[in-house]
Amino acid sequence: MSKKILIANRGEIALRALRACKELDLKTVAIYSSGDKELKHLRLADETVCVGPASPLESYLNIPSILSAAEVTGANAIYPGYGFLAEDADFAERCEASGFVFIGPSSSVIRQMGDKITAKSLAEKSGIPIVPGFKGQIPEAEEAIKQIAQNVGYPLMIKASAGGGGRGMRVVHEEVELISALQLTKQEAKNAFGNDTIYFEKFIKNPRHIEIQIVADGNGNAIHLGTRDCSMQRRHQKIIEEAPALDINEDALKKTLEACLRLCVDIKYSGVGTLEFLYEDGDFYFIEMNTRIQVEHPVSEMITGFDIVKAQLKISLGLKMTLDQDEIIFRGHAMECRINAEDPETFIPSPGVINKMHPPGGFGVRFDSHIYSGYVVPPHYDSLLAKIITTANTRESCIKRMISALDEFFVDGIKTNHPLHQTLLNDQTFCKNKHNINYLEGSFLKK
Ligand code: ADP
Repeated sequence: MSKKILIANRGEIALRALRACKELDLKTVAIYSSGDKELKHLRLADETVCVGPASPLESYLNIPSILSAAEVTGANAIYPGYGFLAEDADFAERCEASGFVFIGPSSSVIRQMGDKITAKSLAEKSGIPIVPGFKGQIPEAEEAIKQIAQNVGYPLMIKASAGGGGRGMRVVHEEVELISALQLTKQEAKNAFGNDTIYFEKFIKNPRHIEIQIVADGNGNAIHLGTRDCSMQRRHQKIIEEAPALDINEDALKKTLEACLRLCVDIKYSGVGTLEFLYEDGDFYFIEMNTRIQVEHPVSEMITGFDIVKAQLKISLGLKMTLDQDEIIFRGHAMECRINAEDPETFIPSPGVINKMHPPGGFGVRFDSHIYSGYVVPPHYDSLLAKIITTANTRESCIKRMISALDEFFVDGIKTNHPLHQTLLNDQTFCKNKHNINYLEGSFLKK
């Protein structure tokens, strides 16, 4: 009998997962909130279950309701996607305890990687280069704290070990700010995460954001799908991503890739994951590992031909799959533009009716999206509407193809960041690959 997968997400990633399930002849259960009845993948799923009202807390984050939906439909496994419960170790544990396969690594690995101090220590043990800093116990005495900070060096970052989503971090430029910044970050961390463990890290001034996609089966086999460059960001939200990252020190990359695979084997990682790094002056600095699929996974798929979502399903369901690095052939360049429902200048969300839309198409163009003409973008969720992905032999041709795809794309009724992408794709700093994570908010938007 065919296995049944409950897709515990919404929007484009729910549709992406549904398509992968179909290709593997897996039955699907789509859950939705009462504010999300018009989602495209609901019409394609074998079964649908409403799990609660529009508020995410009462629906997509409502663990008892999701587990009941799995129970009543006889689902075997739960696909979490990204966001919502995807990196919630308690959710993974409760799936496991209720007899459902959680499609991702084990709850204990999610828990380890969700704690940044533990993640850094494990990464360091496997030989991954980390951001220098102090991750021991911070003493009570102010003088002792100042001494530790002095050793790390200014500017430095105070980070909450349980932090995430860009919260629980603070930059300290000089000693006079240190103690109050420490107290504030501790208080915020206690309120937001119920854990006020803090550590210090050197502040990397103008890095690029480079990440490595890995796939591992938990049985000692791990491969990588190369790098992605996600340096075009605003408030730590990625806007354009590409693969592979170019102009990277070859020797540093080779060593870092090897160490990432070693970590996967050392911690018996099972599933797909991403190791995120800051990269500056030829050096990699590990910042965190995401134990889930990422929004930007398509660019790695496009340069390797490897279906990352199908791999997640196969690994978790124990379907036959061999992971052989030699079979991964890298080809060309890929780029993704995230189209968000927001004002292109103020970045204020812009939900509402899409009167008309037209997707881009043609050779080397991929459009991952759940929107259609007449679709109403609800105000309750993330503003991601669509991912436009282009692939070509070189970065230069890939940019040209993206400019053409963006010209073809059309949405009427709501505001989107479409015009921002059109300007960025013609920006000389971006075209020369000279931007870093501070570029968009700094020199670009201030122009
Ligand atoms: P989160 O889990 O909240 O996303 P991360 O540790 O991934 O936190 O950091 C988010 C972002 O903060 C990074 O992409 C980078 O822009 C910035 N950042 C984090 N650590 C440093 C650092 N040591 N130096 C400079 N910037 C940093």
